[in-house]
Amino acid sequence: MIPAAQIGIQPVSTQPVSTQPAPSQHAPLQPRWQQLWRDAVREPRELLAMLGLDATALASDAASAQFPLRVPRGFVARMRHGDPADPLLRQVLPLDEELRPVPGFSLDAVGDSQAKSANGVIQKYRGRALLVATGSCAVHCRYCFRRYFPYAEETAAAGGWQQAVELIRNDSTIDEVILSGGDPWSLATQKLAELTDALATVGHLKRLRVHTRLPVVLPERVDEALLAWMRTLPWPVTVVLHANHANEFDAHVDAALAMLRASGATLLNQAVLLRGVNDSVEALAALSERSHQAGVLPYYLHQLDRVQGAAHFEVDDGTARQLHAALTARLSGYLVPKLVREVAGDPGKRPL
Ligand SMILES: *Cc1c(COP(=O)(O)O)cnc(C)c1O
Ligand code: SF4
Repeated sequence: MIPAAQIGIQPVSTQPVSTQPAPSQHAPLQPRWQQLWRDAVREPRELLAMLGLDATALASDAASAQFPLRVPRGFVARMRHGDPADPLLRQVLPLDEELRPVPGFSLDAVGDSQAKSANGVIQKYRGRALLVATGSCAVHCRYCFRRYFPYAEETAAAGGWQQAVELIRNDSTIDEVILSGGDPWSLATQKLAELTDALATVGHLKRLRVHTRLPVVLPERVDEALLAWMRTLPWPVTVVLHANHANEFDAHVDAALAMLRASGATLLNQAVLLRGVNDSVEALAALSERSHQAGVLPYYLHQLDRVQGAAHFEVDDGTARQLHAALTARLSGYLVPKLVREVAGDPGKRPL
């Protein structure tokens, strides 16, 4: 590895590439974040070339064929040039190791296909309804269960949200709706507003939560339209972000998060404990401290869901507990996330 400081980090353009056709004068104006979304890197070879790395030695075409590479250029710009072990790169680069079958690692690791109660609604825990708003994400994280979940026909947005909203209306024990996915903020703001307008007619809802990685991987998503929508919401809103490493934060992310907070939202972070990414006390402490600097408190540190293709990211429970104990000894209590695992059938996330 070559330290980035010695060779300088290569700035990567976040502008759409000039070979793309200019939008026609009559086309509806597309928000900038959607252009940046489309312009994501999807070729492992291109990604590695941008980082000055040797493609043939690293990337796996077979793994990429199974779950394609996708990473916004702004996120690539936060990776260290010339470092194949970069913690951001490791989260997105398809590797041959993913294709090795490992006992205990399955297709539906957390029992989602059984907990689904109507199209796109997952109810596992009391009081909360999780809406699979969409299957799309701006970034494809290699460790994610999403690589197998059959989202195509099962999003809550299908049919104008109607089924999901009626299910929530008819169950007065539900007081919190969680927008999840995929990434719910990959939907157009107008589509989100249709949902929340319908939910606003449900009297027993008290809270809205959004689970999203977009403000971190594509901070341009936090635009004026999204903020205007946030300000209209009739419930306290909690945004649970997903960053696994301190290097995922930069000035653009800080600015997006500051605007979200100014809209009144509470910001939390959940991370996944990942071998080779954040499995050290230093990395976890830096993540908590850097998140806090951006106005985000740590919420959960998840043990990996045991999905096929993710075994090489796993940290064993003993090591996970040791890391967590060391973190507790080192940081202010509010900077220590809860170490949990999702176990099918449990009434909530299980503390380790
Ligand atoms: C994780 C999860 C939630 C939220 O759980 P919290 O502990 O409240 O964060 C809700 N529903 C489902 C289906 C989940 O997987
Ligand atoms: S659901 Fe979250 S963790 Fe999974 S690929 Fe999308 S952004 Fe990554």
